[in-house]
Amino acid sequence: MENYVAGPWQCTYCGKEIIADQGFIEINNGNPKLGSVHGHPIAPTTEDAPASAGPRSLHAALQKVVEPERNIRFRAFHDRCNPAPTEEGYHFPIGESATAEQWMRWVIHLGTKTWMGREDLVRMVEFYFINRNLEPHTGVEMPD
Ligand SMILES: [Zn+2]
Repeated sequence: MENYVAGPWQCTYCGKEIIADQGFIEINNGNPKLGSVHGHPIAPTTEDAPASAGPRSLHAALQKVVEPERNIRFRAFHDRCNPAPTEEGYHFPIGESATAEQWMRWVIHLGTKTWMGREDLVRMVEFYFINRNLEPHTGVEMPD
């Protein structure tokens, strides 16, 4: 797979395309030891968490709903697929994250939050690539 053009956002619950005004990005607590895994982020993932990044494919992301070693998790949902509509994660509309430039503005904004760590910010960037069916590491030679 060598994709350079982003596909549509895909729902973490049903796997189908999300149209701009019909869904949202959800960022919430991913660590049940800290609190509800449907609730607002609580604390950043610590730097001593395992070094490997999150799921490398949407399929893996769909299978691993909760990653216990991460304190922050990223998902995209149709409004109708919201698994916990009464809980308050951190949400923003799919329509405000259509392009990589829009997504990077959210990454920069969330970089100001005390509950987002460096590893979480990297995984947030990766989430864009994974969910949008883009390969993050193709097409460029990267130094170690
Ligand atoms: Zn859905």
